[in-house]
Order: sequence, then structure tokens, then C-alpha cells
Amino acid sequence: MTLHTRKLMVILSLLLSPLVLASALPDHRVPGGIISLPVAAATDEKPSVMFNSKPVMVVNHDDQWVAVVGVPLNQEQSLTLEVNGETTTATITPYPYEEQHIEIKETRKVNPQKNDMDRIGKEYNQMTPVYKSHSKHLAAQWTEMILPTEGPYSSAFGLKRFFNGQARKPHSGIDIAAPEGAPIIAPAAGKVVLTGDFFFNGNSVFIDHGQGLISMMCHMSRIDVKEGDDIQQGDLIGAVGKTGRATGPHLHWTVSLNNARVNPKLLLRADQPR
Ligand SMILES: [Zn+2]
Repeated sequence: MTLHTRKLMVILSLLLSPLVLASALPDHRVPGGIISLPVAAATDEKPSVMFNSKPVMVVNHDDQWVAVVGVPLNQEQSLTLEVNGETTTATITPYPYEEQHIEIKETRKVNPQKNDMDRIGKEYNQMTPVYKSHSKHLAAQWTEMILPTEGPYSSAFGLKRFFNGQARKPHSGIDIAAPEGAPIIAPAAGKVVLTGDFFFNGNSVFIDHGQGLISMMCHMSRIDVKEGDDIQQGDLIGAVGKTGRATGPHLHWTVSLNNARVNPKLLLRADQPR
């Protein structure tokens, strides 16, 4: 590198640094993305922002109210919000998520039996209220997340999935390859709202970060927290495993915002590996 290029790079980094330091809220208007929309307060109180008649996250960021909205993976073209009673429409750009083909030896995990279906139905009824919840007491400010475990990304968010050749729901989180027993930590502060051993997800922990922002960690070999625990960012919650529908030890991490599964990478602190 010549001295000239090096000087140029220093100047460039100085120019860019204020942008990086300001820790902008995520704004990626695609299915599975996040919309951050500054909103005016109608009164002295926090503005009301609704999506599908349900409240969405509103945070105070740099002395400005900002609605932070999860875009469902099946949301196409546009998304309509109600801000202080008035409608606002945001344009959604299509995103070309790739296909992924996976071979599962245990065919029962691909085509569950009748009694498995009963169990899956019960589990769905446990998980759905968690995803739909909107706890007001947490997350007044935006907190950037850290990765819950260390390791290479092994499966991206949003992949259109085929198990043994059969189309299934898109990949609603990210997979991080890590050895069995590797520690899993809380990506952000919150409350443990659900733990259990689920048919597909194996041993799982759900953390409520507040205002409809939920993390789910799956396939764990061990769970070290219990429902009701208040936890801080970085607290140990358990260990990596391969319980449930998994081809090998890894952490599956889902992030849900207003009941929309979003790409967890959009919420990561700038120093985290992408
Ligand atoms: Zn996964």
C-alpha cells in the first residue's frame, strides 16, 4: 500500500466514523427485514404505532421517537402502519433468498406421525402467545445484540427449505456451527418467558427483550435458566447441542419482532462478525 493510499484511507475512515458511532437503527425494507421509521409524538406521550391493529416497538433514539417494525417473510410490496391514528405505507423490496436442500435420516422429523402432530400442536400453542406478546416494561431504548455463541455461520436466514426434497417453511433464524457443550449467552437483556423440549426445536429458551422483540435459542444440550429469570446481555443460558430436528450440533437463533421472524444479523452490534 502506498503512503498516498494509506492517507486516503485514514481520511475516509475519519469521514465515516461519525456514521458508525451513531449506531443507526436497522432499516432494511425486505421480507424478513426491519423498518425504522421516525415518528412524531402527538402529545407529550410516546406515539402509538400499530401494524395489523397490534402495537409495534417504539423506542427513544437520539431524542427522537422511532417505530421499529419487523417485516414478515411473506410480506410483499408494501406494509401499512397506523401512526397516531393515520396510515403510512412503506414500500417492501423483494429479496432473492436462496434454496437449501437438507437430507434428514429420521424421516419422522420430516413427516411427523399422528401422535407427533398432537405434540406439535400443543407446542405451537405455547410458542404463539410468546411471539404475539408485547411487554411494555422492557426496551425503552434500542439495544444492539451480541452473538449468542461463537462459530461460523452454517445456515443463513430466509433460506427456502426442502427437507428430503419436500418444501417446508423458510429458515426463520440463523445457524451457528459450534461444538456440543459450547456456551450460549443472552444476545440482549430480557426475561426468560418459555423453556422446553420441543419436537422440531429441541431444548429451547425464549427470551422476551420487550415490546415484541423475542429471541429463541434451539437444539440446546443443556438449559441453565428457568422461566421468570431476568437476565442481562452476555449471561449464560445454556449449551449448544443437537436436540430436535438437527443434522449436527449447532445453535439455531430466531429473532422475532411484532410476531415477524427477522434476520438476526440486522440487530447485531457493529463489532460482531457477520
Ligand atoms: Zn436453523
